[in-house]
Amino acid sequence: MPQTLTEQQILELDSKHVWHPYSAFNMPLAPFPVASADGVRLTLKDGRELIDGMSSWWSVLHGYNHPKLKAAAKDQIDTMAHVMFGGLTHEPAVRLCKTLVDITPEGLEKVFISDSGSVACEVAIKMAFQYWISQGQKQKNKLITVRNGYHGDTFATMSVSDPSTGMHHMFNEVLAQQIFVEAPQCLFNDEFEESHVSDLKNTLEEKHQNIAAMIIEPIVQGTGGMRFYSPLYLKRVKELCEEFNILLICDEIATGFGRTGKMFACEYAGISPDIICVGKALTGGFMSLAATITSEKIATGICEGEAGVFMHGPTFMANPLACSVANASLDLLLNDNWQGKVKNLEQQLIKGLEPAKKLKQVADVRVLGGIGVIELHEPVHMPTVQPLFVEEGIWVRPFGKLVYILPPFVISDEDVASLTAAMVRVVNRI
Ligand SMILES: *Cc1c(COP(=O)(O)O)cnc(C)c1O
Repeated sequence: MPQTLTEQQILELDSKHVWHPYSAFNMPLAPFPVASADGVRLTLKDGRELIDGMSSWWSVLHGYNHPKLKAAAKDQIDTMAHVMFGGLTHEPAVRLCKTLVDITPEGLEKVFISDSGSVACEVAIKMAFQYWISQGQKQKNKLITVRNGYHGDTFATMSVSDPSTGMHHMFNEVLAQQIFVEAPQCLFNDEFEESHVSDLKNTLEEKHQNIAAMIIEPIVQGTGGMRFYSPLYLKRVKELCEEFNILLICDEIATGFGRTGKMFACEYAGISPDIICVGKALTGGFMSLAATITSEKIATGICEGEAGVFMHGPTFMANPLACSVANASLDLLLNDNWQGKVKNLEQQLIKGLEPAKKLKQVADVRVLGGIGVIELHEPVHMPTVQPLFVEEGIWVRPFGKLVYILPPFVISDEDVASLTAAMVRVVNRI
């Protein structure tokens, strides 16, 4: 192979050997080779520059190629890129866990670090099951969740992601069967009524003796439809979990670290779950890292059982490089008036997406914090639509009927205006 590959060579090898997310090898549209990324711009191999609307799937908060994140990585590489976490500990991990305890809702104190969001949710689910086993309640071996959810691509997480509209219905026969209730019907600004939780309440009344935990994405159902629901609904979920003695797992992997306008979306409802999962933006999009955080009560409860320990331990647990970058990213976020930035981004998104409301192909336009969504009446045809965004000089990756953006927090008003205007122009051509 030559030292550097041409665009054509990259594409050829890619189409021959490389899987992409949710892809096949005969896809009608090839991926775009990207050469570099800086700030809010991606530079393609052919020289074109795109304003990034995706934050690489919710993760890039401070823009690409940030000098402070790079410096943290370089410093850590020179000291110790990796070391096993069994029997050893180190400053980057300890610092990170302390910060996570400080910024997550009250009562969450014990941190389990892992490599990806799906694993963080697997760990949360295992914690819940192991807790009840330790309490002598083995029959609490089911999970309850709402429809339209998404918690990852591994088997336990697939079992609680939406069973019918989700991407995994074909695996139903091999998945653990969990309990689903109606998706939150009370949207973000709607008036909450007790009838909005009747399905949940009735199901809990009937089945709570066999339920270990409820898992839910707080306030924003992401991959399952980019739906924003009422904080009062979440508040009632928490009350019902307490009433029926089941644990509450909040999956903040997409919503965490300021994206919705609160540090964690749970704060809208003023609740503390028993277990919280974070990931995606944890390292500011620099590398893969996730965490599952629980209370003293659950941690102690797990460890007083027969096993005496929590039964999980990834090889690359608490990788020092990833932890150092996470520490640098959280430092940046916490010292950066992120509330002001996200509030302003919200205003710019509302303004910029407003013209889409008039288009006949558009069913709804909604904005919450740094998330802007145009929902269409019909699913988009990716092979024709994706190149239109690139021609317009923006990077937007729709799915189904949803054309959405969640730019890095550091984006300028001017770039938001260009991004949203281009997005509306493309939607208009669909
Ligand atoms: C992305 C996501 C996950 C899965 O995270 P991965 O890092 O892709 O495994 C889980 N839950 C939610 C809410 C997510 O948005």
